[in-house]
Amino acid sequence: MTLARPQPAFSAARQQSVAAALRALLPPASILSDLEDTRPYECDGLSAYRQPPMVVALPQSEQEVLAVLKVCRDMQVPIVPRGAGTGLSGGAMPIADGVVLSTARLNRIVRLDAYARTAVVQPGVRNLAISDAAAPYGLYYAPDPSSQIACTIGGNVAENSGGVHCLKYGLTVHNVLRVRMATIEGDVVELGGEALDAPGLDLLAAFIGSEGMLGIVTEVTVKLVPKPAVARVIMASFDSVVAGGNAVARVIAAGIIPAGLEMMDQTSACMVEPFVQAGYDTGAAAILLCEADGTPEEVEEEIARMKAVLEGAGAGAIQVSSSEQERMRFWSGRKNAFPAAGRISPDYYCMDGTIPRKHLARVLTGIAEVEGKYGLRCANVFHAGDGNLHPLILFDANQPDELQRAEAFGAEILALCVEVGGTITGEHGVGIEKIDSMCAQFKVAELEAFFGVKRAFDPPGLLNPNKAIPTLNRCAEFGKMRVTGGVLPHAGLPRF
Ligand SMILES: Cc1cc2nc3c(=O)[nH]c(=O)nc-3n(C[C@H](O)[C@H](O)[C@H](O)COP(=O)(O)OP(=O)(O)OC[C@H]3O[C@@H](n4cnc5c(N)ncnc54)[C@H](O)[C@@H]3O)c2cc1C
Repeated sequence: MTLARPQPAFSAARQQSVAAALRALLPPASILSDLEDTRPYECDGLSAYRQPPMVVALPQSEQEVLAVLKVCRDMQVPIVPRGAGTGLSGGAMPIADGVVLSTARLNRIVRLDAYARTAVVQPGVRNLAISDAAAPYGLYYAPDPSSQIACTIGGNVAENSGGVHCLKYGLTVHNVLRVRMATIEGDVVELGGEALDAPGLDLLAAFIGSEGMLGIVTEVTVKLVPKPAVARVIMASFDSVVAGGNAVARVIAAGIIPAGLEMMDQTSACMVEPFVQAGYDTGAAAILLCEADGTPEEVEEEIARMKAVLEGAGAGAIQVSSSEQERMRFWSGRKNAFPAAGRISPDYYCMDGTIPRKHLARVLTGIAEVEGKYGLRCANVFHAGDGNLHPLILFDANQPDELQRAEAFGAEILALCVEVGGTITGEHGVGIEKIDSMCAQFKVAELEAFFGVKRAFDPPGLLNPNKAIPTLNRCAEFGKMRVTGGVLPHAGLPRF
């Protein structure tokens, strides 16, 4: 694929002096500067955008994180924090003359307290590793991004990640009690606490989802919840996406909060079925997966109620998992949808926006209508209960123009989300991917407030700069700001 947004290169002298300053404080093997070593860090899950970093630092302790921050602060080097690099919005994409601070070696579970139902973990611990460690106590960590086998808790905190079970159990922000983080000024700050509430302003909530722009997460206390005794899932087919979308709204309107409520359209079902043989109805226009969990009695009652609602909403075939093995099989298609896209298209662009549930049918129809305009197919597989859409735009980057068409298609989907009262930030964050769409979503005064928060945490502006919050020039280029006589308004805001 092409390098979509090349940035100016650094000088060899600058690289050597930054690497030498870091090697003076960290073991030499923890600092990478040869291109063959830094290349693996050149992109995250948004692989259409690539940029090898000047230097990669792999600290092994909080002290070493502080040392990296000190060198970067003294030498005015931008820093990009990185967990597993599974982010889909380019948040961990390097800056050409910057340092990537990888948390790969901060991967220890510090403490697990089964009585308090908490775990204290370093930022590089994988999401699924927390649940694996808690399993012997009958506990688990509820937020479950589909990338949970690889993604880290530091990345989850930075993105406020969600997953299939977040409709019932909440997002990262609802399942993290405390974050310990290092500031660019060299302080270590604790936000939140081990109790359910903490004194002072709720800076924890402001920090979660801040995409690596406010500080480096060095430790996280997460809540653990008891594993439900039983879980069963209904798989229901619909003859139109509109009917499927309306069924989602009806389940919630009936006062049911399923443990998971996911939807896949026909393109997605046909894409995934030959890959994992989940038993999906490939003739249906839409498939809903609705999960109930709890005690056997609770599950039986909720399954019966959901079945009745789905039948009333026009479901055709309905199957209910009768064993754990069958439940996992039904979910395997949903969980493998992204890799399955790679089997039918050289590239895919995963969009991510959240809308009020009642507009699901309208937005899905809108997406189908613009497929022809861009000459690209789009598969929809998403967290329907949360109204969180994941249109997968299928394209081939080797064909002239297809990446640009995919991007324009994605931007139009996000504009549609905003139009119906939704948000472009979704669950994958803004990163570099959606930065222009921020200009469509927010007014200048709101962007000004965001920059105010960033400046309060990061006065020199070195932490993941040019991500997530667009500068005025970007919005002007994007046509979302009035420029009079060549002069931009709001003198106090960053321009570049
Ligand atoms: C196949 C697939 C499925 C996915 N499914 C989901 C899903 O269901 N739900 C969902 O929400 N997301 C999903 N994602 C997106 C992604 O996995 C999440 O955003 C995840 O939280 C990123 O974690 P990471 O460790 O890979 O972080 P990275 O990609 O390395 O970084 C993500 C952001 O966090 C920042 N960051 C990382 N570590 C730190 C730290 N210690 N301190 C400060 N900032 C830090 C980075 O700078 C960057 O801005 C999926 C991705 C893939 C590839």
